Amino acid sequence: MSFAPLPAFYEKNARRYGHAHHGKWEMTPIETYTCTNCGASDRERLYALWMDQEIEKGRFSPGMSAIHFAPEAPLSRKLSRFGLFDYKTADLWMRGVDFKADMMDLPFEDQRFDFFVCSHVLEHVPNDDQAIKELYRITRCGGCGILMAPIVVGLAKTVENPGATNEADRWRLYGQNDHVRLYAHNDYTNKIRSHGFHLEELGVQHFGEEAFHRLGLKRTSILYVVSK
Ligand SMILES: [Zn+2]
Repeated sequence: MSFAPLPAFYEKNARRYGHAHHGKWEMTPIETYTCTNCGASDRERLYALWMDQEIEKGRFSPGMSAIHFAPEAPLSRKLSRFGLFDYKTADLWMRGVDFKADMMDLPFEDQRFDFFVCSHVLEHVPNDDQAIKELYRITRCGGCGILMAPIVVGLAKTVENPGATNEADRWRLYGQNDHVRLYAHNDYTNKIRSHGFHLEELGVQHFGEEAFHRLGLKRTSILYVVSK
């Protein structure tokens, strides 16, 4: 596999606005961010690896229903190709998705889905507790999901300031102009568990050094898998 770096404009803006945590995330390797073959980001490559392994183990079976929020195109192609799922997509703003959906008020009945992918969405949502509550509600008992957000290694406390609404403040605090917080690891995991999900954190011990190297992943990468 060959990889292309994270677009330089993130670092440029981090410097310009004085963001202190650029490049210190658990995932998002600057040099090996995008797969030059299929366009998948490092996190999508990790999700695909996990999915392949779990399908092998029999965790998923044909006909299960899946929902992919803010669907990344490369991962979306892979998920729909599996043929295991009644596969749907949802987003508040994207065109071409199956459902226009606000994470804080999802248009689905209780326990509608066996599986969800919600990756790099929560850091955009004003009330992330409400969003996690909704994800829990729509997940079937026995179901699971990939629930990911940018997390800074070693950050003691989640950075969140509702008063920071302009671009410069958001670049400075969170490293991106459309984010509303930057998570610390323990705050993130505690928050998820507080809404009832069981949470697994799968890192290099789970997947192995060789797989991490092959996929161009940072050693600190963690896959967060929730289940109900
Ligand atoms: Zn690829």
